Amino acid sequence: MANLTRDFFIALSNNQFLNNNAKRWGLRLGAEKFVAGTDLPRAAERVKELNERGISVALDNLGEFVSDRSEAEAAKNQILQVVEYIHEKKLDGHITVKLTQIGLDIDQDFCMDNMREILVKANEYNIFVNVDMEKYIHYQPTLNIVTALHKEYENIGTVLQTYLYRTLDDLKDLENVRLRIVKGAYKESGDVAYQSKEEIDANFMETVKERLQGEAFTSIATHDHHLINQVKKYVEAHQIDKRKFEFQMLYGFRVEMQYALAEEGYHFCTYIPFGDDWYGYFMRRLAERPQNINLVLKDTLYTENNRLKTGAVMAGAAGVAALAFFVGRRSRKNKKLKQL
Ligand SMILES: Cc1cc2nc3c(=O)[nH]c(=O)nc-3n(C[C@H](O)[C@H](O)[C@H](O)COP(=O)(O)OP(=O)(O)OC[C@H]3O[C@@H](n4cnc5c(N)ncnc54)[C@H](O)[C@@H]3O)c2cc1C
Repeated sequence: MANLTRDFFIALSNNQFLNNNAKRWGLRLGAEKFVAGTDLPRAAERVKELNERGISVALDNLGEFVSDRSEAEAAKNQILQVVEYIHEKKLDGHITVKLTQIGLDIDQDFCMDNMREILVKANEYNIFVNVDMEKYIHYQPTLNIVTALHKEYENIGTVLQTYLYRTLDDLKDLENVRLRIVKGAYKESGDVAYQSKEEIDANFMETVKERLQGEAFTSIATHDHHLINQVKKYVEAHQIDKRKFEFQMLYGFRVEMQYALAEEGYHFCTYIPFGDDWYGYFMRRLAERPQNINLVLKDTLYTENNRLKTGAVMAGAAGVAALAFFVGRRSRKNKKLKQL
């Protein structure tokens, strides 16, 4: 069932129709738990609160399904505004960008030019720019662009996903590039990616240990306290300088643990997504952890006085019907495959 639920929410995250419509809804369905607002000033209020606690941030101006040049240029201009804003308001933070947002699916040279423009502006203000890692189809193009631009600008970094078999090989090629290490959020096939939690976790730890031997800065991005505790022990046992790495978590997740790690003296950075294109990001978070669904259901179904919201019940019923349809369709498809 856990895999079915995951596949269901990943399928919803890939639905362009729902993504486009959600832009008109404002933050709904409990998304405000995980998305810091639909505009920059609202997100900045959260940033200031975190900065006051000694926590830095990675600002992600959300954007999905960019399919023409004007949309990609609009996204680039918005990101440039975020860079200006961080500088102007003296926020402690960097930006994090998805290359598909600025034209990777349209033309790789065009995307690289957009990224270069962002880097030039960010470099002027000494602001770091991280490139999120997306689906495997975008993996090599992303690495190509990041490594090419890193020759010109040092303020660019990217992400390695430890569900991929190739992570440890890529780690060697990226030894001078600032990296965020994550498990990986998309659905990838057994041809390229580990499928079991045990293997992904083991590769996560191996990647982090290997990386901490080198000099470049590393962001260790997970909400998994088992892995965080293993990292802490490893760092202590090998006397690794705390300035060489930080822990990262997503906005709204394990908030108390985020504060505790910062108070323990670890560098900590919260990834803050904001903007009206919140739907795909939110669905991927629901896919990762069924408990997140309970959390948002509670907020979505009940008013502050614990009264049931009628509209929400209708939406919930529609969701259950959609899940039943999805499960039914999948089992019919599986049956068909078995017959072939
Ligand atoms: C800052 C950041 C940036 C990211 N960037 C990318 C990216 O660029 N590309 C990409 O593909 N993916 C990215 N991800 C997502 C990542 O790949 C994983 O999908 C996501 O982090 C879930 O894995 P996990 O390690 O956090 O824990 P999981 O594997 O989801 O959970 C493992 C265990 O940790 C505990 N746990 C986890 N969450 C909670 C919680 N909320 N409350 C209580 N216990 C909990 C539970 O015991 C759980 O069984 C990013 C994640 C973070 C945190």
